[in-house]
Amino acid sequence: MSPKRKTQVDLVIPIYNEAGVVEQTHVQVRAVVDSLPYDFKFIYVDDGSNDGTVDVLRKIAEGDPRISLLQLSRNFGHQAALTAGLDASRGDLVITMDGDGQHPPAMIPQMIKLIEQGYDIVQAQRIATRDESSISFKKITSNLFYRLINIISGTQVLQGAADFRALSKNALNGLRSMHEYHRFLRGMISWMGYSSVILPYHEPARVGGKSKYSLGKMIRLASDAIFSFSLAPLYIGLSAGLGFFVLAAVQLIYVLTLWLTGHTERIVAGWSSLMGVVLIASGIIMILLGFIGVYVGYIFQEVKRRPIYLITGDKKNGE
Ligand code: UDP
Ligand code: MG
Repeated sequence: MSPKRKTQVDLVIPIYNEAGVVEQTHVQVRAVVDSLPYDFKFIYVDDGSNDGTVDVLRKIAEGDPRISLLQLSRNFGHQAALTAGLDASRGDLVITMDGDGQHPPAMIPQMIKLIEQGYDIVQAQRIATRDESSISFKKITSNLFYRLINIISGTQVLQGAADFRALSKNALNGLRSMHEYHRFLRGMISWMGYSSVILPYHEPARVGGKSKYSLGKMIRLASDAIFSFSLAPLYIGLSAGLGFFVLAAVQLIYVLTLWLTGHTERIVAGWSSLMGVVLIASGIIMILLGFIGVYVGYIFQEVKRRPIYLITGDKKNGE
């Protein structure tokens, strides 16, 4: 970094159907960054919106030359959109944040300072407010998910970690070297092991509109995390197999003992216990075949080496 040049900070903001929201978000972010002594660039990634978001983004870009607009050819999902923005970043450091106002721009100055102090990753962590006592489906499933992934995976993922973080050039290059198709960025970033610091925050409500994370998208993200960061489901098979093997050995010893001691009349196979064992064993086998199938599917998609996203349309303002 030359001392004459201002540090370039890229803000990567993925957007999917946020026509009514994105302008306000931009105003909020500008209110914070315009007074800071850095050279800011906004990289808006339109993730295949079909509600006129692109027109709104184009309009904003006309009034602000620091904006580049990347348009993905269809909805590739939040993680792919983030990846597209990160790939386009040329700054000295990059910050990713949501475009719905839920990631407070007021944290940006502190994030930049921490990167300048030498941290590679500044990770924002959503924490519950006291009055946030309402128990939502999303909160429960998200808590369970983080617990599970931290039990079954060697890579620890911070509870409440948001895709709101700052990355140094070093961390960005590390992330760019990871080409996997199924991306769970929170896990990938933790896996890199670079020096990181956590900044807790209370999440404000959306500026407007509804969450774009449908149940299907949440399930996909969770399975991407589980099947790309853990082999535990496969080991369930090994343990279940061993368990059944021990049971079979005990049974064999029992029957042999009865036979050797002349109590053959007591060797009468019970139908229900037999059925029970058969059903449990075949159930476990089916589940495990399913797990193996999922891994094979993931491997299949990885070996195809398809791009994570495709860009369409014009890129505004350089890049
Ligand atoms: N988003 C995206 N692609 C998608 C879903 C969401 O780019 O397929 C964007 C969305 O516009 C927002 C951010 O990702 O800027 C986070 O999504 P959202 O706010 O819907 O998630 P939540 O905050 O409910 O977890
Ligand atoms: Mg949101």
